[in-house]
Amino acid sequence: MAKPKIGFIGLGIMGKPMSKHLLDAGYELVVHDLVQAAVDEVVAAGAEKGVSPQDVAERSTVIITMLPDSPDVQAVALGENGLIEGVSEGDIHIDMSTIAPGVAIEVAEALGAKGVGCLDAPVSGGDVGAINATLSIMVGGEQALFDEMMPIFAKMGKTITLCGPNGAGQTVKACNQIQVALNIIGMSEAFVLGAKAGVDPAIIYDVLSGGYAQSRVHDARGPRMIKGDFAPGFKARFHFKDLNIIMKTGNDYGVPLPVTSLVHELFATMMAQGRGELDHSGIMTVLEDMAGIKARTQKE
Ligand code: NAD
Repeated sequence: MAKPKIGFIGLGIMGKPMSKHLLDAGYELVVHDLVQAAVDEVVAAGAEKGVSPQDVAERSTVIITMLPDSPDVQAVALGENGLIEGVSEGDIHIDMSTIAPGVAIEVAEALGAKGVGCLDAPVSGGDVGAINATLSIMVGGEQALFDEMMPIFAKMGKTITLCGPNGAGQTVKACNQIQVALNIIGMSEAFVLGAKAGVDPAIIYDVLSGGYAQSRVHDARGPRMIKGDFAPGFKARFHFKDLNIIMKTGNDYGVPLPVTSLVHELFATMMAQGRGELDHSGIMTVLEDMAGIKARTQKE
């Protein structure tokens, strides 16, 4: 089957490397972002420039969005000059942003009414996973559409799973974000406690790397945290956004999330302190302030 022409909207930390993998794989791309420099960079790599979501939709048959939050996806998909004004019957929309499951369903229903097939396909694996095309992609939607889009997913990720109907991908992503947030808080408390008790955090990192506490988050973020390197990566304000989605989803389904709610408040503290642009591992700075110590290694 001929390769479809792909529209790609949202060329940030994640979308830029993901779109470039598709170009490298020989797909024709038309791209759009509010940031001109991001568009210019992907155009220089071989993509065409789209001037609006509507324009992108008119010039492609598969449209991928990788945007910050639920309102952004609603605006791009359903707003003025949005995808809905440019799509044709038989087109496919894949939203890879992390948004509320309910909004994923709303967008799928609205575009579905125009004959567009929709998948929610949020990702895990961070900027490193996007750059290395090793993302875990969790998909909500119909099996046949999932199968049809698999060659495209396979250019961006490694673990690609159909989780259920529309919205199910976002539900699984919410579950993922609980575990990642709790993991980072656990690491932060461990480094801060150890440091205040006089142990170099690098020793804590090395020892925990070889034991039961080891995790992918520990491996990816630990070495940077103990050097005080909190450049994003995954912006803390996005993890706060995800924690809001999680708390609402828990509320919708009547599921108490006692520990996650505490973590939510710690991230709310980080936002109130104006630290939302730091990497989410920068949550350790909130715990450092509480303990009155910086958990930084003295080793080179
Ligand atoms: P980012 O802020 O780096 O990129 C988002 C891009 O969307 C920006 O370039 C922005 O200009 C563009 N954008 C926003 N509104 C737009 C609009 N109306 N029209 C066109 N472009 C618009 O964010 P990111 O880190 O790439 O994250 C994107 C999504 O992926 C988020 O939902 C995030 O939660 C999720 N995610 C991020 C990571 C990570 O490690 N960064 C990992 C997994 C999932």
